[in-house]
Amino acid sequence: MIDIKKNLLELRQHIKVLAKQYQRDPDHIKLLAVSKTHPTEKIKQAIAVGQTCFAESYVQEAIRKIQELSQQQLEWHFIGRIQSNKIRDIAKHFTWVHSVASLKAAQQLDHYRPDNMPPLNICIQVNVSEEASKAGIHLAELIPLAQHIKALPKLNLRGLMTIPKINHDFTQQRQPYRKLYLVQQALNLQDFNLDTLSMGMTNDIAAAIAEGATIVRVGTAIFGERIYDE
Ligand SMILES: *Cc1c(COP(=O)(O)O)cnc(C)c1O
Repeated sequence: MIDIKKNLLELRQHIKVLAKQYQRDPDHIKLLAVSKTHPTEKIKQAIAVGQTCFAESYVQEAIRKIQELSQQQLEWHFIGRIQSNKIRDIAKHFTWVHSVASLKAAQQLDHYRPDNMPPLNICIQVNVSEEASKAGIHLAELIPLAQHIKALPKLNLRGLMTIPKINHDFTQQRQPYRKLYLVQQALNLQDFNLDTLSMGMTNDIAAAIAEGATIVRVGTAIFGERIYDE
């Protein structure tokens, strides 16, 4: 039996310890509970211990949960692959999108963001390890995309996100996160004012916090293993 309350309390404590260890302000590390594939019932257990920020990867599934939980004051983050036929729904139902990696996706999100909602918070997903197969924009294309997004009125460019390839060595886990941090610093020298680094998951949260993560995206350590039934 998964004890979501216990998992969350332990995870918050773990984040505090890591923050202290790496001289980070724990208030500058937001914990996103990645609830994809998990039922609304489990999300309610997290809400009961004060969790308010949730992340989803599949639009249809996410909208169902957002509607089921519409009585609650929650902040929903989209972290999945952006399909063009789902962009209108993403723009309407989420507060943040972490996985923007093309100008077209950005323009469409801006176009469909309803006028009566605050600007959509955006992270550009960067492929720091430059793997051909991985999602995310390559470094060479990052600045032009960031400039374009800056100019879109209904988007608020907040920062960068990355999903590195799986690695179980702590020192090696830090490398892509260090790289993302340095890229953020470079952009901020050009007045992009990015305040967000979305990096770190269940298996590499320590490496991400060590390198400056301001949002960590944690699923398994809170909700247990995911079961995909497709
Ligand atoms: C599923 C997912 C996570 C959560 O991963 P865990 O290993 O379960 O913590 C984080 N980020 C993204 C983009 C994901 O798709």
